[in-house]
Amino acid sequence: MDGCRQGNPLFLMLIVQKYGGTSVDSFERIRNVARRIKSLLDEGNEVAVVVSAMGGVTDKLIAMAQEICEEPPDREMDVLISTGEQQSIALVTMALNQIGVKAVSITGRQAGMKTSGSHTRARLETIDSTLSQRYLMEGKVVIVAGFQGINEEGLIQTLGRGGSDLSAIAFASSINADLCQILTDVDGVYSADPRVVPDARKLPEISYDELLELASVGTKVMQSRSVEFAKKYGVKFEVRSSLNNNPGTIVTEEHEAMEAVVIRGVSIERSQARVTITGIPDEPGMSGRILGVLGDDEINIDMIVSNIAHDGYARHSFTMHTNDLGRAQAALKPVLSELGGDANLETEAGIAKLSVVGIGMRSHSGVAAQMFKALGEGGINIGMISTSEIKISITVEETRIEDAARVVHAVFGLDSAPA
Ligand code: ADP
Ligand code: ASP
Ligand code: MG
Repeated sequence: MDGCRQGNPLFLMLIVQKYGGTSVDSFERIRNVARRIKSLLDEGNEVAVVVSAMGGVTDKLIAMAQEICEEPPDREMDVLISTGEQQSIALVTMALNQIGVKAVSITGRQAGMKTSGSHTRARLETIDSTLSQRYLMEGKVVIVAGFQGINEEGLIQTLGRGGSDLSAIAFASSINADLCQILTDVDGVYSADPRVVPDARKLPEISYDELLELASVGTKVMQSRSVEFAKKYGVKFEVRSSLNNNPGTIVTEEHEAMEAVVIRGVSIERSQARVTITGIPDEPGMSGRILGVLGDDEINIDMIVSNIAHDGYARHSFTMHTNDLGRAQAALKPVLSELGGDANLETEAGIAKLSVVGIGMRSHSGVAAQMFKALGEGGINIGMISTSEIKISITVEETRIEDAARVVHAVFGLDSAPA
């Protein structure tokens, strides 16, 4: 990221800031954003900004589509939901102009955001930043619409919920920014969602891998694909508040000292369902067939737990979002009848997932035992368990998920970790 940018050498730093929906959810907050940008300019920096739709607007646009049809076509959804960002970039630009700052808004297409893949969850392929660079060289602040781009056919596509994070990280990388700041309504990345665990602490730093794991199991402060991109291209970034000047969380490569902390954070995911298939013949290819039909229907499955076969039959359990349960049952029905009379499918909704993440787990033993013991003492029953090198996930009844998060947060001493 650093060193080789093309920008104007007279400036101190080239900074990309991303303001999320919560930071622009009222006219006063939009004015606050404009003032913050102006003070960075006054310090002598060159600034480019990526903005999300005003808080709640994307949800409202989705609800509008559902009033018209039950399953709106994804192509039209992209045309509709990308308008949220178009409103906010114009408003932020106007607020800047009002306080005497030269600024221009640009849409995803104008910012050269090239996408591919499926509508509403497109991949960001490349960014042609020629126009943005030109505006910057002219001394203008560019205000870029997050979340949107265009595909090869010229159609508008969006990058999945929370996708402005990806727009910002990738844009910062494309213009060789010196710094990328993600500004939001919390002071940084916390050891748990502060809305769920009041004792959660802000983390001064976190590794890409830890934030990636946390983001992929429900920590919505950053979209997981944006962290993946940052890791791949080495974009060091900071998550901090748009409402104060407190230092934020630095997201970076891991270093040795980080391993001393066993658990960095706790994350929860609500509205999960479990599917269990029993009576699966213990033959090669069976798991591929079962999971294959779910993949074909783009149903994301998560924790997969399998038992070794007994009496010639295996069983698989996996979790998914409750919204996908109906589609999963429909997709699995024909496979089950092909498997024969002994195959059976059971489902359970109303569960939630709790995960703990930390790179220190690689070098410490007994972490799972400590977690399970604390949950047991708290009277919380564990459903499924799955682990990876730096993560342990379990399911519990959804009604107990917040208790479970607090118990686990406390047992690993995260309440008292230095902020
Ligand atoms: P933005 O509108 O800026 O994109 P989001 O709503 O997407 O903001 O993300 C910020 C929210 O993420 C916070 O308000 C917080 O409740 C939630 N959150 C969940 N887990 C964490 C965590 N571990 N650290 C910080 N925030 C978290
Ligand atoms: N406005 C989009 C959303 O609400 C993108 C974003 O906020 O990052 O998901
Ligand atoms: Mg967000």
